Amino acid sequence: MSWGDPCRTGTAFDFRTDAITTPSIRQLAAITRATLNDDVFGEDASTTLLEQHVATICGCDAAAFVMSGTMANQLSLAALTSMSRSRPCAVLADSSAHVVNFEAGGLSNLSGAAVQPVQPSNGLYLRAEDIEKHAKLGDNMPWEVCPTAVVSLENTAHGNLIPLRELRGIRDWTAQAGILVHIDGARVWDAVAAGGGSLRDIAACSDAMTLSFAKGIGAPIGAAVVGSSEVIRRVKRLRQSIGGGVRKAGVLAAAAMEAVLENFGPGDVDVCRVIQGGHSAAAEVSNMWTARGGKLLRPTETNMVWLDLAAAGVAAETVSDMASRRGVLLAAPRVVLHHQICADALVSLGQVFDDILAGGVAAVDAADLGVRSKGCVQAM
Ligand SMILES: *Cc1c(COP(=O)(O)O)cnc(C)c1O
Repeated sequence: MSWGDPCRTGTAFDFRTDAITTPSIRQLAAITRATLNDDVFGEDASTTLLEQHVATICGCDAAAFVMSGTMANQLSLAALTSMSRSRPCAVLADSSAHVVNFEAGGLSNLSGAAVQPVQPSNGLYLRAEDIEKHAKLGDNMPWEVCPTAVVSLENTAHGNLIPLRELRGIRDWTAQAGILVHIDGARVWDAVAAGGGSLRDIAACSDAMTLSFAKGIGAPIGAAVVGSSEVIRRVKRLRQSIGGGVRKAGVLAAAAMEAVLENFGPGDVDVCRVIQGGHSAAAEVSNMWTARGGKLLRPTETNMVWLDLAAAGVAAETVSDMASRRGVLLAAPRVVLHHQICADALVSLGQVFDDILAGGVAAVDAADLGVRSKGCVQAM
């Protein structure tokens, strides 16, 4: 059985993303206890319980359970842009944001919105000054300019925290400018675990926030949007319009609820310290790289390490190939950690770093490929 076994699923050796975390046996047990009523009718207690719980810990009126982080983001943005008094309108976002680059054009498809991509001037995350400089405001704008209706932020942004004072500064400025705020909190659990504020503090800086249950929290499927009753009413209508209303949703919601409780805790701050396991591993990987003379593209603050491969003189594809030869998976230049990475995988990653920085590729031989089976019983 693969439940609760990151060695069997391969997750223990996978540095590509924290979306591959393996769900636990307790989640499987929670599924067996789920109510099996209809959530399109709004009658499923397990789903309602999860929605109410998430709304409460985020200090919001309501929440909507959805199938993926992408769906949560796009429904949030469609709901918020639908509340704009001028249409067509625009969504301002970090030019490297997930909503802009990895959601299959959902913004144009579902919101009919223009994208105003902005490069963060500090190289890490958007700040109020970036937004003030690039947002298009006011009724007296030339006709050819599209007004900014929504600002979309990511927290964490590529593994970096947006400091709470920055979020509050953005919230203050956008509120007086009449702009709504979406926070893509696919990794907001990591932001909280790393001291970036409580879930309530962060959600209070948004009109709609996305949370994912299927990344570091480790549920099989699911995400949520939190916000006011009005925003969530719009999200649920839009969710139904794209076929995202599901019947026995409790099967998924029960696992997601268990994942939150066992990996984060019952409240708005992290008390389980499971997510920090991934952060400590990231700090270790960061040290392994810099101790060998490697440089980083971004500071390591949560569960991601960004390798400066240009400085190391090696191409990303070459590094990913080197990693597979050592028995680990890597989507260079980003190394993503999570609490299910095992010690053997870190040893192998250290060897990959040696190969890269010592130019020792030739030293990789068949004998090294056995590392994957040490200590962690493989049944792939
Ligand atoms: C993974 C991710 C998403 C999308 O989540 P899926 O559940 O994979 O659709 C959205 N935003 C960010 C920042 C992510 O990392």
